[in-house]
Amino acid sequence: MRVVIIGAVAAGTSAATEIRRNNKSAEIVIYEKDKYISYAGCGMPYYIGNEFNDFSDLVPRDADFFKHKNNIDILIEHEVLSINSKDKTLLIKNLMTEETIQDSYDKLVIATGAVSIIPNIKGSERSNVFVLRNINDTNSIKEFIEKGNPKKAVVIGGGFIGLEMCESFNNLGMDVTLIARSSISKGIDKDMSVYIEEYLKEKGITVYTGTNTSEINDKGIILEDGNFVEAEIVLLATGIKPNVELAEKTGVKLGVTGAIKVDKHMKTNVHDVYSCGDCIEVYNTITGKPIYRPLGSTANKTGTIAGSNITGKGDEFRGVLGTGIYRIFDMTVGQTGLSEEEAIKHGYEAVVSIDKKMSKPDYMGGKPIIMKTVADKKTRKLLGAQIVGYEGVDKRLDVLVTAITLKAKAVDLIHLDLAYSPPYSLPRDPLYYTGIKLR
Ligand code: FAD
Repeated sequence: MRVVIIGAVAAGTSAATEIRRNNKSAEIVIYEKDKYISYAGCGMPYYIGNEFNDFSDLVPRDADFFKHKNNIDILIEHEVLSINSKDKTLLIKNLMTEETIQDSYDKLVIATGAVSIIPNIKGSERSNVFVLRNINDTNSIKEFIEKGNPKKAVVIGGGFIGLEMCESFNNLGMDVTLIARSSISKGIDKDMSVYIEEYLKEKGITVYTGTNTSEINDKGIILEDGNFVEAEIVLLATGIKPNVELAEKTGVKLGVTGAIKVDKHMKTNVHDVYSCGDCIEVYNTITGKPIYRPLGSTANKTGTIAGSNITGKGDEFRGVLGTGIYRIFDMTVGQTGLSEEEAIKHGYEAVVSIDKKMSKPDYMGGKPIIMKTVADKKTRKLLGAQIVGYEGVDKRLDVLVTAITLKAKAVDLIHLDLAYSPPYSLPRDPLYYTGIKLR
């Protein structure tokens, strides 16, 4: 069996290693148009912010690693130009030599990921304007900062990448302004995102919400309302879109979100063509509806599931809750499942608990933790949660992820035998109170 995979970051390499785990003799070839493979994309903001400085921690593996460890052939700087699904062939361009070659497959995996959305803003092509999607972007941003020593940064976009980069620019001694078209942190209800906004301001970040950028010029940013913000470096963190052109040309169907439609086995509508990672749409475990939620956690999982099914193991994907977590300075923000707004949009009569509790006792240096939890009024089943705090957010979030995944009711939170000792928690955990309120 010859398996060809397109894309060698999270999903493509996860598919490849799962295939090798289950089948020692398959030929596995990955084509990757970039120079860098299998890197820690989620670590890029921290590398830019000098939280760690070793490039090899960011890009720990190369093609030799995969060849020696797993007998997987990765051809970097090779772009797949087209796929002929009838005779199962591909045309590939070697970007180093400009030569075009042909290859064939028995099974094909499209793991082409996503690309940054560049908004239609005058001046977005300027040399001090960047996006952050891959290692090339990371290197360009780092080099620009090292050479030009900018003192004023503007981040456009209030999602988690924009927020992480506010911290990184700030750590590098820059004055940072964040411009968000709507509120901070999409997917989080407004009554929770205000805490993030207040905290950003406390940390010295200037925040504009509900504002569009109309132009980037050589001095800075002109906002739609006429305000001007000075900027020496600008980051466009305005979202990503699935990279589906090649798939579409091949006759692979897209879903309602515009990403590739796959079944629970990661199969597309085209025979022997699978897809995984940031180029596919997944479905929400609670609503059963398709969503586009491109994350590394899911890319690894869907890659492994594609590999499992190619080798006949048959693992099924069970959907996502859309769980996400990020750090902004000392604050952690986490979310899972449906926000209140989404729950209402999906026809639930939502009951909500918002609680400010301590992460552990005062005498052990406990910090406040604010939890908003949403349940269905009729069934009392948990639907989602948003948590903002300084420690212990990840722990409560993952408990709620588990509870929601296992279709727990609010009352079940009261009965969880959670770990307690003063250095970690309280005898009555914030989750306990959530259970009491929503049962
Ligand atoms: P990609 O990483 O997009 O890789 C696809 C690859 O396919 C690319 O290298 C591309 O060059 C290649 N390719 C495309 N077309 C072709 C072609 N025609 N021929 C050959 N090669 C091709 N996720 C989390 O879960 N938690 C986090 O904390 C987190 N932080 C992040 C921070 C940042 C700054 C960024 C940018 C992302 C973060 N993510 C995070 C998301 C995570 O990095 C992605 O979900 C993950 O990288 C997706 O992997 P992928 O393999 O599906 O796609």
